[in-house]
Formats: sequence, structure tokens, C-alpha cells
Amino acid sequence: MRVLSAVLALAAVAGPTMAADPANWAQPMQPFRIADNLYYVGTAGLTSLLITTPKGHILIDGAVPVAAKGIKANIAALGFKPADVKILLNSHAHFDHSGGLAELKADTGAKMFASAGDKAALETGTYPGWEDRKHLDFAPVKVDRVLKDGDKVELGGVTLTAHLTPGHSAGCTTWTFPLKVDGKVRQVIYHCSTSVALNRLVSKDKGPQYPGIVGDYLATFAKLKAMKADVFLAPHAESFRLADKRARLGTGPNPFVDPSELAAAVASSERDFNKALAKQQEAAR
Ligand SMILES: [Zn+2]
Repeated sequence: MRVLSAVLALAAVAGPTMAADPANWAQPMQPFRIADNLYYVGTAGLTSLLITTPKGHILIDGAVPVAAKGIKANIAALGFKPADVKILLNSHAHFDHSGGLAELKADTGAKMFASAGDKAALETGTYPGWEDRKHLDFAPVKVDRVLKDGDKVELGGVTLTAHLTPGHSAGCTTWTFPLKVDGKVRQVIYHCSTSVALNRLVSKDKGPQYPGIVGDYLATFAKLKAMKADVFLAPHAESFRLADKRARLGTGPNPFVDPSELAAAVASSERDFNKALAKQQEAAR
């Protein structure tokens, strides 16, 4: 019920430009291989990525709290052991992407790595600036290693790079890593998110979601515009047309390869941000 009420609250505030479709956040989905050692183990609406290595595995994002069991089942269904997950990573500390992490950590024994900006939110299980909205809370998860911008996470010959892209959350972390697709090494980006969603950018009475949030969004848009990627992935399945690409897997060149997608997603997100900022500034007058 907690998930449902949070879902309804988000849906009410999000509006038509938000990519999320809360109805499918907890809906189970058959796991599958995107390419090489990268697998999708999330729900129909919320991404969870498994990167396998000979020394154990890396799992990025835990979806909503009720999804943790399904994520574990998905890992097992692919033939991997949940106990072999050694490192847990997070795009950002919001309940729809970090909600399952505490249970996944307890059950796998993995270490949790996260940015300084999201550490407090993860360790208290709250949405900073909305501490009064209890339906946005999630089970707290202890952070074992704090990541800085540009830090590398290495395991079994796999290297992921953390790029701090704050705004959507104070410690929003975008991940990049190489991946062999159709015999060629491609660059993958797991875009943290740059939507405004529930965030107060400006507000007369409550102040911004967190100090400096607008400047953070602007710097993040500039940073993402300077980045290149061949494979674009994101925490919400709709944001990278997961269902469509999955349906086309195996019918020709890998549909997850689309070097134009990052720039298009960032441009569209920036337009939405500017509209939301203007609207909030008007309302705060
Ligand atoms: Zn979020």
C-alpha cells in the first residue's frame, strides 16, 4: 500500500512530460541479456542492471521496495547467484530506484557504493526536502564506499565510471562503461535522470528542494551535452523505449545501439526543465 500511495502521489504531481508510468513500477518482467555481460533484471517500468564478471557481479538500482524479490528471482533465472553480487550501485536516492537496495544488500552481502550527495538520503531512507511525505520513504541502506566524480568501480576486469550529475537528486550519479555489442566495443551510459518530477526549484515558503539545485541542473545539462554514448539506458524503462528495443532484439543489429539517443533525451529534458522553472518562478512571485 505504501508503494501504491507513493505512486499515486507522484502521478498526481508529475504531469504529462514525465516519462514514468507508475502502473508498471512493480510489474514483474522476464530478465534478458542486453548484450555481452549486461542484463536487464528490473521490473516492467523500473530499471535494474546486472553486470556479470568472473569475480562476482555488479547490480545498479533496486527499484521500488516490493521489487527486490523479483530482482533476485530474475538474477537466478538467468543462471547467476544473487550471493555473487558484490557491489550495489544507485542512479539516485529516490524510493523508486533505491527502495529495494536494503533488502538486496542484506540478501546478497554486497557492498553499497554511492555519492556523498545521496549518502544521507540512502542511509535515512528519505527524500531530502520531502521528509514530511512518509510515502516517499524507503528502507535505509548503509553506504560502504563514498564515490567522487570520475571515480572508477572495478570488478573482475569490468570498469564503470561515476559521473556526478546532480539536480534530480543532490547526488544523482550517471554511469558509463564499455560493452561489446555485435562484436564491437560500445560506450554505455546509464543516465541518472534530469527530470524535475517532485523537485521544488524555487519556492516562496519552503525554499528549494536543496540549496543550489537550479545551478546543479544547469551544470548537469552542460556536462551531459559534452558526453557521447552509443547505448542509452535510464532508470525508467519508458525513457529509453525498453519494451520496443527488447521486442527487436535478435532480429538485426542490436536495437540498444543508438548514438543519437543521449543528446535527444538531454535536449528534451532541458526543455521540460526550463518550462518547469518558469512555471515555479511564476508561482513563487
Ligand atoms: Zn527520481
